[in-house]
Amino acid sequence: MSETRKVHVKSFGCQMNVYDSNRMADTLAPAGYAETADVAEADLVILNTCHIREKAVEKVYSEIGRLRVLKQEAAAQGRRLTIAVAGCVAQAEGEEIIRRAGAVDLVVGSQNYHRLPGLIARVQAGERVVDTEFPLDDKFAALAPPRREAIAQRGISAFVTVQEGCDKFCTFCVVPYTRGAELSRPVEQIAAEVERLAQAGVREVTLIGQNVNAYHGEDLSGRPATLGQLLRRLGDVPGIVRLRYTTSHPRDMDDELIAAHGDLPALMPYVHLPVQSGSDRILAAMNRRHTRQDYLDVIARLRQSRGDLALTSDFIVGFPGESEDDFRATLSLIEEVGFATAYSFMYSPRPGTPAAELEDQVSDEEKSERLQRLQALVTRQWRAFNAGFAGKTLEVLLEKPGRLPGQLVGRTPYLQTVQVVAPRGLIGSPVPVTITEVGSNTLFGTLAEQPSMSDLAAAGA
Ligand code: SAM
Ligand code: SF4
Repeated sequence: MSETRKVHVKSFGCQMNVYDSNRMADTLAPAGYAETADVAEADLVILNTCHIREKAVEKVYSEIGRLRVLKQEAAAQGRRLTIAVAGCVAQAEGEEIIRRAGAVDLVVGSQNYHRLPGLIARVQAGERVVDTEFPLDDKFAALAPPRREAIAQRGISAFVTVQEGCDKFCTFCVVPYTRGAELSRPVEQIAAEVERLAQAGVREVTLIGQNVNAYHGEDLSGRPATLGQLLRRLGDVPGIVRLRYTTSHPRDMDDELIAAHGDLPALMPYVHLPVQSGSDRILAAMNRRHTRQDYLDVIARLRQSRGDLALTSDFIVGFPGESEDDFRATLSLIEEVGFATAYSFMYSPRPGTPAAELEDQVSDEEKSERLQRLQALVTRQWRAFNAGFAGKTLEVLLEKPGRLPGQLVGRTPYLQTVQVVAPRGLIGSPVPVTITEVGSNTLFGTLAEQPSMSDLAAAGA
């Protein structure tokens, strides 16, 4: 079918949603939909929503309000604009969205994206459709693979979902309810996807999952493989020079994964390991099922395996019952570990989760004050981490043209952005760069070695 219609997918929330948005666009391509970044020219708009914190639902309804105006304008021009809501808000709200928002044609849960072409066809035939059940068929096997041009357009770095859902039931979190039980994709299905990406020019792959290191997909012999084993398998894919994974749980950081950091060259020394709190009392109330000391022990083992490893984390401030002493324990944990950076959030009660029912909720003023103190400390650590690279040489994977003519922009193993003067033909190559200046958000550097003709030829210049 020729591509006559346009789809605009707007992603909210985490990287898993970014991956899902790409896969939705891939799955709609054979049905005749080309992707567009311009919502005004779209025939189909998909809002890929997030439910992790408060106001997410209201944000979606106000977005739908804006789309309703576009839909009316399109109708006045004799065009039809179809509006779909996908993702975790769709999963959680279901029918309610159709009831509340007359402009919405389709509500599709996160396990059902492979059915999009059929669901859209039903909408075209005049139905308003809700599909939020957890199906038994393998969504990943049924999703259309990305086309070569789509992969190339998305750049040399790609996300690949390897695991979905979560069985941990932290008391603050909606994920086990919106994404369902843990499910891992088979090793060879993932390897085939990564091979396809590499053949189209991808050089760096980040494996993603709500609880990625709980990965236990089947290997060729039908046995469950660990994330460490999966990473080793992907380390063999020609063209892939960097591997990352996110988000991990401290309890699932096993010996095999820790060992991979020591001896798998493609695995980057940068680990996102959320801890949420430094207080054992709060960790227990959160049902994290590990202590502060367990977390510190895991970090010590990771650092032993790979000396230059850096860490990032997630923190929640103002969990119900969090006292000033509990909060100080979190600050002292941050001081003790020394993070490259961290994400921090004020606790947001999520309907249906156990913590939302607790009585001793912390006031918004206190949450906001604690968040500011925590972020000030994290910012100091982040600045110190970056400043430590001045004058040092490190490997930068060059990604795309930079701000100024002749410049390319790339990333260090620690995901810092680096601007460097380099020939365009080196895009996709990891090169040694000496850092000459540390800016507030970007590092600047020079090539530590001038590329030879054979390097450029190997890079395809
Ligand atoms: N699976 C990961 C883990 O165990 O750390 C985290 C996944 S969650 C999508 C990302 C982050 O959102 C969490 O690490 C937590 O810091 C934050 N988060 C989740 N629920 C929250 C809530 N109710 N209020 C505030 N932050 C929350
Ligand atoms: Fe949510 Fe992560 Fe806890 Fe699972 S492990 S319930 S995704 S915070």
